[in-house]
Amino acid sequence: MKAPRFRKWFATLSSLNQPQRRQVLDALHPAAGLDQVVALISQAREPGRCCPRCGGGRCHRHGFANDLQRFRCCACGRTFNDLSGTPLARLRHKAKWLAYSQVLLDSLSVRKGADRVGVHRNTTFRWRHRFLAWVKLDRPASLNGIVEADEMFLLESQKGSRTLDRPARRRGGHAPMRGISRHLDCILVARDRNGQTIDAVTGRGALTAAQLERSLLPRLDPQALLVTDSHAAYRAFARKHRIAHEAVNLRAGVRVRRLGSHAIHVQNVNAYHQRFKAWLMGFRGVASRYLPNYLGWRWALDGERVSSAAQLFCLAIGVINR
Ligand SMILES: [Zn+2]
Repeated sequence: MKAPRFRKWFATLSSLNQPQRRQVLDALHPAAGLDQVVALISQAREPGRCCPRCGGGRCHRHGFANDLQRFRCCACGRTFNDLSGTPLARLRHKAKWLAYSQVLLDSLSVRKGADRVGVHRNTTFRWRHRFLAWVKLDRPASLNGIVEADEMFLLESQKGSRTLDRPARRRGGHAPMRGISRHLDCILVARDRNGQTIDAVTGRGALTAAQLERSLLPRLDPQALLVTDSHAAYRAFARKHRIAHEAVNLRAGVRVRRLGSHAIHVQNVNAYHQRFKAWLMGFRGVASRYLPNYLGWRWALDGERVSSAAQLFCLAIGVINR
């Protein structure tokens, strides 16, 4: 609409009655959602915008498609938009993405999320894992000071798979063997006393020193004091990499002991385990292959670290705030 005509139209708005105002607002609401999402995408991706094919930083505007500005790379000629190469590329219904980010903040089920946002539940399931793919990467660069580490186990699950690599469980929720076995997924969580937390799904069965090397070592400050239970893998790992290590002998009933001015225990990390497990119950079982996404999701919610839908959305498109 041209400007003079728009002014005239806009001037008539004051003469609307209440139901008419409602109707106009309802008509504009989806567009407002879309505008907000498009603005966030461009704000978030503009610094350091580069070609997804060659990484070149020089590009020029090249029309609009699917509500987004397209760009053309000056070096290789490829066209792209601000979502190319992100997990959200080519997803539809952008106007609903912020509402969906709020669904994630509220930990709603696939079905409830679909009802709230007004899309099919297959869509909210797909969105859940696309959104979380990069949200889960937002982790502290390193853990410092006293770092508690401990593993927890969850029954391995092939929920949603068309073929199982084992016989189906007749009565759900129990491992066919007692103790720690290949039927359990091992999840390592490490948390320092500032609350910075990392986690890793290390595999099936008992934790090994090699797995600690892979998942804990790169994020552990060399000056840190590692505190764990008396599992031999931690001792072997700490000795090999010359990391200061204190173990609490939980089996002997020791939960806390003093070391100078420090309290040596793994209660913070165990509390984190409990919060994660209690929260996960709300989803009535999740597939093992998606566990890293759920761990990342939980970390986003922990202590309200991510507190707004916009902030969560920016993480989903790759603004990592370590
Ligand atoms: Zn290029």
